Amino acid sequence: MSVQIHIKETNKVKGVVTNIQTETLSYLTQYFLKNKFRWLLPVILSPVTDPLWPDPRSSGIKPLSVRIYGNEMKLMHSMILHKQVAIALGLKRVFILSPNIRVEPPEKISTGRHAFEFTQLDFEIENATLDYILRFVEDLFVSLIAHIKKNCVEELEILGRDLRVPRRPFRKYYYTDLVEEHGESWEEIISKDNRDPVWVLSIPREFYDREDPQRPGLYRNYDLILPEGFGEVLSGGEREYQWERIKKRMLKDGLKPEDYGLYYDLARKNLLRPSAGAGIGIERLVRFIAGLRHIRDVQLFERIPGVIPRI
Ligand code: ATP
Ligand code: ASP
Ligand code: MG
Repeated sequence: MSVQIHIKETNKVKGVVTNIQTETLSYLTQYFLKNKFRWLLPVILSPVTDPLWPDPRSSGIKPLSVRIYGNEMKLMHSMILHKQVAIALGLKRVFILSPNIRVEPPEKISTGRHAFEFTQLDFEIENATLDYILRFVEDLFVSLIAHIKKNCVEELEILGRDLRVPRRPFRKYYYTDLVEEHGESWEEIISKDNRDPVWVLSIPREFYDREDPQRPGLYRNYDLILPEGFGEVLSGGEREYQWERIKKRMLKDGLKPEDYGLYYDLARKNLLRPSAGAGIGIERLVRFIAGLRHIRDVQLFERIPGVIPRI
């Protein structure tokens, strides 16, 4: 006798969302392949991961670690440093669907956009500039939304989602102006005030995002903020690649350069290459496309801050 799965109302939503997620991943991966990217497999455990510090919004999250073969290995926060190593090893354009573990504080359950386990579509391009990445991402988002509108008609109708194809170029804000005008709630405010995604530029954060050599205090990085209150979906930047600059930034952040393994060896020998890239949170993107308010509605196996899953 075959096992019958009874689909309740809530599970019907998850089924529909899974269709949208499948179409989204299929479109995104094809887009990167058409643009001559190499598709890397993810790393789960590594002696080296993104410190997330001092991104003002990372809430002091520390990586989890396990001991294997007598050594500490960390669960990945993000593959940013692996992306830079891949570029140094001669790969010119790379992307990865990268599972990330971040033990977000339990109160983050109320944001609706934090999970403790999620997937980034992380990409990096040798010699790319901020302007190139902004154009690339705008093309990607506009064509993805148009594609979903055309190919997920039934799903969007069931969810009652009226999805708008954004107009480009997306509006740009500077981080310091936003903080000055709105204080800490800037993300929520600009996300609710805009009908299309917007860029936030020059955010002081981790050592790997490039500080403008001509204008110290300005950063060559960017966040993409979705409209309708959905908030951040992407972060990225041009990268620091010169050893003296990296060393200075790491020491300023209280990090030990020698803890950074092969990244450190390559950086010290000035073998890192100029590059830029970004990471797109897949669950956040699907949540926006589906028009659902909580990330738990798009994760089939929910990984919500403070909640122990049963599977
Ligand atoms: P936030 O400020 O919203 O906490 P972040 O700036 O700390 O996010 P990044 O380090 O920039 O996050 O991570 C890159 C991308 O990964 C984010 O833009 C987002 O789309 C996704 N992401 C980060 N943290 C989470 C999370 N806890 N749950 C789901 N997606 C996440
Ligand atoms: N993936 C992001 C980037 O490319 C970094 C992060 O996840 O924190 O900059
Ligand atoms: Mg970010």
